[in-house]
Amino acid sequence: MNKLLIVGSVAFDAIETPFGKTDKILGGAAPYIGLSASFFNLQSAIVSVVGDDFPQEYLDLLTARNIDISGLEVVKGGKTFFWSGLYHNDLNSRDTLATELNVLGDFQPKVPQNFKNADVVMLGNLHPLVQSSVLDQMESKPKLVVLDTMNFWMDCALPELLDVMKRIDVITINDEEARQLSGEYSLVKAAAKIRKMGPEYVVIKKGEHGALLFHKKEVFFAPALPLEEVFDPTGAGDTFAGGFAGFITQSENISFENMKNAVIYGSNLASFSVEKFGTERMVDLDKEEVVSRLQQFKSLTQFDIEL
Ligand code: AMP
Repeated sequence: MNKLLIVGSVAFDAIETPFGKTDKILGGAAPYIGLSASFFNLQSAIVSVVGDDFPQEYLDLLTARNIDISGLEVVKGGKTFFWSGLYHNDLNSRDTLATELNVLGDFQPKVPQNFKNADVVMLGNLHPLVQSSVLDQMESKPKLVVLDTMNFWMDCALPELLDVMKRIDVITINDEEARQLSGEYSLVKAAAKIRKMGPEYVVIKKGEHGALLFHKKEVFFAPALPLEEVFDPTGAGDTFAGGFAGFITQSENISFENMKNAVIYGSNLASFSVEKFGTERMVDLDKEEVVSRLQQFKSLTQFDIEL
């Protein structure tokens, strides 16, 4: 089985949407990525850190999905990273109410020995220096390195972010962040500028408006499934990234054609994630539901025009 190494925050999230409010629940980029990637035939491991306030039941939830957590450090007496967000009525925009790095503040990642030869590395949202350090520890060159980041790191660690971007193949980023990073309003121009910063492939996520994949002069668009109810968009981007990287890991094919399918798999899994608070929907999701929704994706965009 191919190996996927996942790096990213593991968090307590407190979320408020127009539909309700949660107290501290399981969050962070890595759990969303791991749960999403667990729908593929692969071996995965998470590298991250939590405090000893992190409940065993959350760890069990990850291991139940065969995610290796030997690289998830538990700091004695430390507090787990805490993030809190408030969504506006359109659910496409949110305010960050709190970002308490806690144990993430001086985290030194340690890649488990048996994942130093991972086929694919998914650098989820974390300090770019941590993302770089993980790449430094790899003993063989991964077939693909995917990076996700956010405006927080552009604001407080831009030089380090630009450094790690030189070492990756694919970046996944949302539209607002792509504009911030490139200084371009047009997403086509933004993608071209971002490609010059390092990654061959640029995926721009547009929330309920789908995602764009750019490579050289080629562009592919994947819609988001029009959903009757969106409950909580938190982690949609990470779930997308997990589906994208998971599919590539399983299929071992890093061509642009195959990446189109990876974008569809990512969008498909993300469409489930938003249906309940936090990781709840990803935990109760089964493979049949995933396959049946893929069919819906296909019908959504298939048409027959003779040219
Ligand atoms: P997304 O909705 O895809 O942007 O991801 C939301 C997740 O990112 C939440 O579960 C947060 O815990 C996590 N998160 C928020 N801010 C940060 C940050 N600065 N570094 C790492 N993870 C973060």
